[in-house]
Amino acid sequence: MVSRVIPVDDFDLVIFGGTGDLARRKILPGLFRRFLSGQMPETSRVIGAARSEIDSDGYRQMIREAIAEFGGAEAQDADGIEQFVQQLHYIPVDAMGDDGWKELHSLVRFDAINAFYFSVAPSLFGALAERLHTYKIADGDSRIVVEKPFGRDLASAEALNATLAEHFDESQVYRIDHYLGKETVQNLMAVRFGNVLFEPLWNNHYVDHIQITVAETVGVGGRGAYYDKSGAMRDMVQNHLMQLLCLIAMEAPHQFDADAVRDEKLKVIRALQPVDPHHIVRGQYDADGDHPSYRDDAEDPRSHTESFVAMRCEIANWRWAGVPFYMRTGKKLRARTSEIVVVFKDLGHSIFPGDEKRHRNILSIQLQPNEGIQLQVTIKEPGPGGMRLIDVPLDMTFADALGPDADDSPDAYERLIMDVIRGNQTLFMRGDEVEAAWAWTDPIIEGWQARNDVPKHYEQGSSGPEDAMMLLHREGRKWREIRE
Ligand code: NAD
Repeated sequence: MVSRVIPVDDFDLVIFGGTGDLARRKILPGLFRRFLSGQMPETSRVIGAARSEIDSDGYRQMIREAIAEFGGAEAQDADGIEQFVQQLHYIPVDAMGDDGWKELHSLVRFDAINAFYFSVAPSLFGALAERLHTYKIADGDSRIVVEKPFGRDLASAEALNATLAEHFDESQVYRIDHYLGKETVQNLMAVRFGNVLFEPLWNNHYVDHIQITVAETVGVGGRGAYYDKSGAMRDMVQNHLMQLLCLIAMEAPHQFDADAVRDEKLKVIRALQPVDPHHIVRGQYDADGDHPSYRDDAEDPRSHTESFVAMRCEIANWRWAGVPFYMRTGKKLRARTSEIVVVFKDLGHSIFPGDEKRHRNILSIQLQPNEGIQLQVTIKEPGPGGMRLIDVPLDMTFADALGPDADDSPDAYERLIMDVIRGNQTLFMRGDEVEAAWAWTDPIIEGWQARNDVPKHYEQGSSGPEDAMMLLHREGRKWREIRE
């Protein structure tokens, strides 16, 4: 299969916070890969803009080192790195003051696409937007990229949206949720809306329940005090898990364009029912030998913030009424995995005598560590001995199906940055989506605070608190095992 990389139009990408962790770990190594693939025009420039008082040469050196550390296999390509860094520039800029803005104005080209990546704390978004406007650096065609967290509740998200809306149209704003940039997430839409097979079954007549799991093995480590102000609900559920839920539950958009897709996602969020407090389990990991507990990591022995949450949700519409959507996410769990599982209902009647085992079709969509889709189907066990049935996976793992091309597929950040340059907002969250997600999340968090809810304990390397298992057991179901 021939790889089809189409270069994007010439661009200048300014990265505010270009010396920060995210820029060095994800954004620049991602751009480097796009450069190597031939997607980045030779005349395009990436302009780091941050507080550090370095010059462009100093920045190039910083990014050489970042690519060596975080660039993966491509970091071996010394010639490629040298060519790439020649397209980098740097300007010291103070988001809160006047330093650097005139210089930035004289550097940015107005006859190319220009995009401004706000890879800084959200408290600086307003100051950046205002100065881009005042110094006439951005215009009605510029693109603004903002990172999570987009607010910590509805009020703060509304305030951030209002700040951006003062200077930019919604069509210029790209709110990143990197989960949406994953190959499998888009493939999920291709599978749902590009095949005749699934759509007739994709509803409460045939689907028993759906599980969404995002499990991490890492703890909150060095950023414990920061994490403690958010917790799993704000950090993961309100954005990543809800986005996955939307894609699995939404109606078919009339076409695959940004607003049509986002309209349908928004309808799902609005149809989400308030969650019964008995249908939520929160947890904190315990200490394990030398490994500190969540509360130690958070440096607060009385912290009530959750490092794990599991919940049972319902979507009140014709398609999904009565179908539970179970979501869970947590830190220090058994394995690092992100998976969506659609469990279909039992057959109404089995014609195979003696076959007492329950056979179910299960569609599982893995987002990490390996992206791929599997469908569990029931077949006859090969060989003599009568009609014995077994369940086997039909494997649609991309590495097998697509061969070496699967490795070349861009990672989430690369894809999303190129989408910004192309002006395609389909995989970015719209302001009203983010607000609707907070409107659903806020009462849940407020309920915990009002009840002084204390998270349950769970062992490091486990699947979370026992009560999370019970969430499904008491309804005769069980979670998929957490494994890579
Ligand atoms: P960081 O602290 O490593 O870097 C912050 C950057 O902002 C630095 O380049 C710094 O020079 C710049 N900066 C700070 N104050 C400034 C000012 N007044 N004027 C100009 N520049 C200023 O932060 P980070 O980890 O890179 O995160 C950046 C943003 O991305 C944050 O909003 C964070 O929540 C979000 N984010 C980060 C990650 C990650 O993995 N690091 C993941 C998702 C989202």
